[in-house]
Amino acid sequence: MGSPSGAEKIRAAVRSVEEQGGDIAAALLMVDAADLEAVIHDQFDMAGAVLASGLGASPGAAVGAVCFTPDDAVDAYDAGIDVILVKDETSPEDVHGMAIAEGILTTRGGLASHAAVVARGWGKPAVCGAEAITVGEGCFTVGDVVVNAGDLISLDGTTGQVFLGAVSMGDKDEELPELDVLLGWADEVRAGKLGVRANADTPEDAVRAREFGAEGIGLCRTEHQFLGKRLPEIRRMILAATPGAEEEALTALEIVQKQDYLGLLVAMDDLPVTVRLLDPPLHEFLPSVEALVLSDALGELDVDGAELLAAARHWQESNPMMGTRGVRLGILRHGLYHMQVRALLAAAAEHQARGGSPHIEIMVPLVIDAREFELVRGWIADEVEVANAALDRPIEVLIGTMIETPRAAMCAGLIAEEAEFFSFGTNDLTQMTFGFSRDDVESRIVREYVARGLIDANPFETLDQVAVGEMVRSAAAAGRAVNPALKLGVCGEHGGDPASIDFFYRSGLDYVSCSPFRVPIARLAAAQAVLRNEPR
Ligand code: PEP
Ligand code: MG
Repeated sequence: MGSPSGAEKIRAAVRSVEEQGGDIAAALLMVDAADLEAVIHDQFDMAGAVLASGLGASPGAAVGAVCFTPDDAVDAYDAGIDVILVKDETSPEDVHGMAIAEGILTTRGGLASHAAVVARGWGKPAVCGAEAITVGEGCFTVGDVVVNAGDLISLDGTTGQVFLGAVSMGDKDEELPELDVLLGWADEVRAGKLGVRANADTPEDAVRAREFGAEGIGLCRTEHQFLGKRLPEIRRMILAATPGAEEEALTALEIVQKQDYLGLLVAMDDLPVTVRLLDPPLHEFLPSVEALVLSDALGELDVDGAELLAAARHWQESNPMMGTRGVRLGILRHGLYHMQVRALLAAAAEHQARGGSPHIEIMVPLVIDAREFELVRGWIADEVEVANAALDRPIEVLIGTMIETPRAAMCAGLIAEEAEFFSFGTNDLTQMTFGFSRDDVESRIVREYVARGLIDANPFETLDQVAVGEMVRSAAAAGRAVNPALKLGVCGEHGGDPASIDFFYRSGLDYVSCSPFRVPIARLAAAQAVLRNEPR
């Protein structure tokens, strides 16, 4: 007999209380929080011969025909074909193809890369950093094996394995009422001790997150509201060459942003919604200089194209993840953050006028210093004051910051003097503490380091408690020492990892935030953290 499945363990745990009079705490500890993954996502029923391996970047199983561009993927999907989108790496330009794909396969990138974060947010299987795969013209190769566009492949986003052909799916327990019972008990145990929110960027994500039991949004990445077809709108603003052009682009953005926020506030009525001001890694949002140069060489660039090329060259960076990102772009283009806050407040006012109850938290990304935060905090506070002056009942707004650079973590006490909350961005904090690029290092170096015992685990998956965790712990303590009311959360990918959740609880955090599909896992893991560490 094989070991019990996740569903069997959940049923047994609930039976131990309901039929055998057992203890709820013991029942909650009977199930490994990671077992819930197999219950929530599709699984293959047997393994085939592995064609290539990468990082299991977003759990679940997917079968589909290989497509290499998002447009081809959409055409195939429209013709009724299930597709797997295969790319070296993805960017916001690919999102329309990612959205309809059964699964996503990249040859580069790690667990916090664009493909991984977007796929996990949607609960879509993804394998990232499958380095043995070489993508060519209309095909990919692995050694001697050639896989053409249209050929079927299968992805296991849990193990990171890629198979040739269609692997059959296992039977999924569609009905598992015991899971709701177990999670209900988990919620009672962790109530008032460790909250669980979701990282959600769109109203659809927010609705799903609430269905999974999220108690609010801990991170709305506003740059993700401009993916796919809406990419040109944000590009126009970043690339604007004159104040007039910038103003025009911002006015257009304000209209769409207000609708985005309204949808989120409605979906999360009466729950906190943390909106992070724009943090677009420029390489993901700008047109490719190489492609524009090629068009130029072929004489295909019109006047607009030539302007775009000049602007793209101007903003091009060698190390964009440490370049004009986050609050730095906000300071260079400060009309942007003013616009986002105005749009958010206008949405909140509209929601409130219709009887809704908005709870807004505005968050500044990639802060390095208290003075930088104070500058931007002042802009936000000014916009809030103006908006509230026009209302009978003011909207309550908290203003806080991500702590995701080592410097911000070291200066947490000073930053906390002005901040009402901190949210730890452990993706960037891990990247910058290790000096491990979140896009490049995992499949090649981290795997080798783990195999040699040089590090215990992939630090992008499970928090490194020695250094990154120590920064979280000490920044949380320093912040609370200055400002005892400081709210503390985490919104990096570790917010959905059970071992990391235990650490965050021990470090005094109030909530964790993770992708909607990981919310049930986080609810159980949070209760287990409370039970294992009581009293904290
Ligand atoms: C982080 O860095 O942990 C974070 C949540 O921000 P992002 O992944 O968007 O950089
Ligand atoms: Mg970050």
